Formats: sequence, C-alpha cells, structure tokens
Amino acid sequence: MLSLFGSGIGRGIAIGKAYVLKSSEIDAPQLTLKQEQIPSEVKRFKKAVVATELQYKTMLRQLPADAPKESAAFISAHMMMLKDPLLVEESINIIRNDYVNAEHALRIQSGNLIKVFEQMQDAYLRNKKTDVQHITNRLLRNLMGIVSHSLDEFNQEDLSGKIIVSKDLSPAETMFIKDRKVVSFVTDLGSQISHTAIIARSLRLPAVVGLHGSSKYIADDDMLVVDGKRGIIIVNPSSKVLRQYKKIQRRIREREKELVTLTSRKSKTLNNLPIQLMANIESAKELKDVKRVNAAGIGLYRTEYLFMNRKQAPTEQDQFKAYRKIVGGIDRAVMVRTLDIGGDKQLDFQYPQKRSSESPLGLRAVRLCLHHVELFKPQLRAILRASAYGKVGIMIPMVSNFDEISQVLAIIKQTKRELKQSGIAYDSRIKVGGMIEVPAAAIMAELFAKKLDFLSIGTNDLIQYTLAIDRVDDAVNYLYDPIHPAVLNLIHNIIRAGDKAGIPVSLCGEMAGNVEYTRLLLGLGLKNFSMDATYLLDVKEKVLAADTSKFQYYVKQIMNADSPHQARERLAKLNQL
Ligand code: PEP
Ligand code: MG
Repeated sequence: MLSLFGSGIGRGIAIGKAYVLKSSEIDAPQLTLKQEQIPSEVKRFKKAVVATELQYKTMLRQLPADAPKESAAFISAHMMMLKDPLLVEESINIIRNDYVNAEHALRIQSGNLIKVFEQMQDAYLRNKKTDVQHITNRLLRNLMGIVSHSLDEFNQEDLSGKIIVSKDLSPAETMFIKDRKVVSFVTDLGSQISHTAIIARSLRLPAVVGLHGSSKYIADDDMLVVDGKRGIIIVNPSSKVLRQYKKIQRRIREREKELVTLTSRKSKTLNNLPIQLMANIESAKELKDVKRVNAAGIGLYRTEYLFMNRKQAPTEQDQFKAYRKIVGGIDRAVMVRTLDIGGDKQLDFQYPQKRSSESPLGLRAVRLCLHHVELFKPQLRAILRASAYGKVGIMIPMVSNFDEISQVLAIIKQTKRELKQSGIAYDSRIKVGGMIEVPAAAIMAELFAKKLDFLSIGTNDLIQYTLAIDRVDDAVNYLYDPIHPAVLNLIHNIIRAGDKAGIPVSLCGEMAGNVEYTRLLLGLGLKNFSMDATYLLDVKEKVLAADTSKFQYYVKQIMNADSPHQARERLAKLNQL
C-alpha cells in the first residue's frame, strides 16, 4: 500500500483499476553506436515497424460494428504512412549514416517530416503532422517496450470503472473519457482551476492532479482509491483501508440525499434577499443534473466543447441544433457564451490563427472571434436562431476594452438584420452581456455596464490575470488565491458597477460553487451565482442560513487583509458566525 498526494478535484471517492496512459512525450534515449552495432540496430527498428503494423491490423480487426466510420480510415491511413520510405527508410539511413540508435533516428526523421507538413498551405495536409506524431509515438513505445495505452480515436477498449493515470489530460481528452464510463483520473501535471479540472467536476469525476511521478509509482491494473476532496491516492489499499473508503463513499451518497430536500426551497437568505443560483454546463447531457437541482437557469454554457474532438468545425446548422436542444430542454434563461478557444483549450482541426503556443495571453476568446468573423458569424447566427425557442442571452468572453464590445454589438446588429431579411425568426430583444475576467475590464466595469445588458464575473481567469498565475501551471498553483484582496476589490467594483447601471451581475467562476466563499460573495453584494450543478445544493444550504446584514464588517476586514494568511483567518471568522 502506498499513499500519494496532489491537488484534489471534486469531493467524491473513486475506487477502481489503473489504466496507465502513455506519456505524450516519450523520453527516448540518444546513443552513439559503434559500427558493428548498426546491423542489429536496424534489425531492431524493422522489428518495431512490423510490431506496429500488427497492432494496427489487430485494431482494424477488433473495431466494433458501431465504431465511427472515420476510425477504420484513420487506422488504414496510419498503416500506409508506416510503409512510407520517407519515415522508415530515411530513419534507417540516419541509423546507418550517423551511428545513432533507432529511437533517436526516428525522432530526427519525424521532426523533419513534421516541419514539412507544418509549412503546407493546405489545412488538411498541415493536419498530417498529428498523424506523424501518433505513428512516431507508437513506434517509440514498441522500440522501448513501453506497455501503456493511449486515448485516441483508435482506443476501443472497455474503460468502464477504470482510473486513468497520465502525465496530463487535455480538456478534450477529459470530454472523451466522459462517454467511456471512466470513474476518475490522476495526472502528474495540472491544477484545480484548469479547464480539465472544471470538466472533471461537471462529470462528477473525483480526480487528483499535480501528482508528480504518478506513472512511476502506479502500474496498469493496480487497485487505486482516489480521494478527490483531500487530493490523496492510495495504491493497492489494504482491505481495511478499502472498507474505510467504501464507508466514506456511502456517507457522501447519504449527504447528497439529505441535500435533495432543499431542491424545492425558495433560494433566499435569512434576511429575505432573493439569490439566484444558476448552473454552468458544457453540453446538453448536463441538463438533467441542472433540472434535478432546480437551478434558476444556465448562467454559463461553454460552447467551445461543441468544437472539440472533431475533425472540422461544426456548421451553423450543427450549432443551431445543439443550442436549440439546450434552449428547448429547459424553461429558464440560458446564457450562451461565444467561442472561448485558445490557451489551454485547443481544437483538433485547423482554425484561423491556431497557435502552437498555449499562452493564456494570446489570441483567445473574443479576440480570435473578432479577427475571424467567418468563425464568429455562424455561431452568432446559430445562437440568434435558437433564441426563437426560449430565453437566451449572448455572453462574450474575455472582453478587455470598450472597442471590442462596440465591434461585437455591431456584428450582432448586422447578423440580426440579415436574419430578418431572410425571414428567419430570432428574439429581437436578446440580451448581450460580457464576461469580466480581465483586470482592465474589472477596473472599467462602470463603462462596460453602460453598454451591456448584464455582466458575468469569470473569476477563474480574473484571478489568473490579476495575480499573473497561469491557471494550468501547478508550479504556481499555490499563489492562486480567490480571496487575495486585489481580486476581492475587483469583484466588489464589478458588482457595484452593475448595481449602479441597474443590470444583473453574476459570478460563474469555480469560486461560485465553493461553499467556503458563499458568505464572502454574499457580503460583497453578489445576488447571482452560476456553478456546476453538483455544488448548487451545498451553496443553497449556505444561502438559506445566511444573514447578510451581519457580514459587512468581516468582508471589509478580509478585503483589507495584509496577507493571504490573515485573509484566511478572517474568512474563517466570517464562516463561523
Ligand atoms: C472563468 O474564467 O471564470 C470562466 C467561468 O470561464 P472559463 O473557466 O471557461 O475560462
Ligand atoms: Mg474564463
């Protein structure tokens, strides 16, 4: 039995067998060989090529009848590429000419090919670079005898009940495992506030991230206990420990049942302030959870997940169908956030200005949409068309200056005009709001509030940008502090600006679903919360027991704290009231 510690996600416990994924970067050795070693090295390489080909053949044979049609085509394409002399023969030439080991020769040659593909004009050919990476990794694993799995479109294994162990997991991969009945995941990298973590919470997957060296200590099929609340992994637990964790699992389920009794209660504080508790979603599949907890609406629908795990962008019609399903599936308002890609949310297919860099300061969200109206317009048309079927708001992510808002409003106006001319129905009074997640926008919230119908505070990013902490980098995760006075002052400023302009302000970052902050946010004047549905009833319980008239003194104290430690001490006092 072994215990490992990282950052926990979710509050549940998962118990299951480990499914160790390949590391995306395989640590291949680089060796210089003697002349007499060359023939056996070439032979070793050829053997790995044959083994790889065999694996592809087995995959083709084992493809289930209902597998997507594309799967067989991908496997065949990779088999063809494996026969390409440019990959195999050229790597052998490098072994022979440079006296290097097969792994290194393959790395050099695949790097050459990737460079060539990257320079192609045609987007389809540019995408071939990913195929080269896939084949290279598979070949390397065979050369090095690494037995592990990969989460790609070829994976047809039964993953139900498994716990994924990986160096890292992208938001797109996390969405992929959602449908495969995986019960948890464990990663070496990552933080509690990354989009991967957000998806995990919405999928109700307890997980532990930032667990350096997990794949060193965990082997395939090891029995694992993942404690999402405490950030602990137990590898091969004793039967006594396993019994204890099963007991905790039962207690969590009982607590969930208790909370269900709050579902029909009106959401208001003890001093009678009505508080709206809304839900964040990524897809229509979450609607049943949203309804189960009786959320006041959808405060944030992250549309970018509709664009993930696919080979090309969804068309206007694809998007319209998806949005209508959500809008028609709930009789409450849905705030549809326009495409927020870039940073840690990358797409598989080529899109304008796709960057190799994943900097959160790059051409992300509304910036990208304004540069590429051909990507933005179909989405706006689809949202507007869906607005004919229910109450919809358009929410613009990451606005940082006033001109961006003016430009977006002008494009929406033009889109409405076009729809009207074509006789297509939409809600002409649709509300347009902005996400305040950049400090510049938070400081200038009064100005923004004059132009917009509502504001939504994206604290996940607002904290990242205010404190200069990359939200996915676990090395600086310890500095990620939602109650840093600078952050609290900005939140307060945004709420005041909304109140002054008479428009609603909601908060839809992860902070909204953390009961530790419910009193603090109420004390800052927040009346609209939007969070993962899983946490809504916990927050409701806190709201029902809160008398905000007693919070002012403590909230001011926290906002004026000198250090994170002092702020935490003062927050504890507020929560103990
Ligand atoms: C946020 O930044 O707080 C937010 C809700 O948006 P996302 O987490 O998708 O960036
Ligand atoms: Mg954000």
